[in-house]
Amino acid sequence: MQVSEYPGLTPVQEKNLKRAVEGNCELCHEYFAFQFLEIHQISRRLYREMVRDPAARILVVCQLCHQHIHRLPVRVKDQRAIVSRRSFFVRQDLRRILGYAPKPYSPPDDTDMSQMYEEYFYHFPPGSFRLGG
Ligand SMILES: [Zn+2]
Ligand SMILES: [Zn+2]
Repeated sequence: MQVSEYPGLTPVQEKNLKRAVEGNCELCHEYFAFQFLEIHQISRRLYREMVRDPAARILVVCQLCHQHIHRLPVRVKDQRAIVSRRSFFVRQDLRRILGYAPKPYSPPDDTDMSQMYEEYFYHFPPGSFRLGG
């Protein structure tokens, strides 16, 4: 097992992220068993300032695509395009999973995050957007 690129991500969260994308690699769109999927963190140096949403900084990709992202590399712009193409429901799921993250560390730019999510889910409880089935 690789060390996660996302510090503080618990195994449960990681599994839930993979479930949120229904086991589909976000780059090649193939289905993979969870153990073959990895969490890629989009380069923070270029990206962090622009988005506070932690879900917008990650991609769930298969091992092969993950290697491509780092070796080619896939441009941050293209990685962001993948993020922006996510369905509303996937986006909500990813945010919820990461938003409720216990925070073993707190980067200075994320200090308002948990409060923000609490307020959000007070008004929009998880699952309220789900359609039947
Ligand atoms: Zn892939
Ligand atoms: Zn990566």
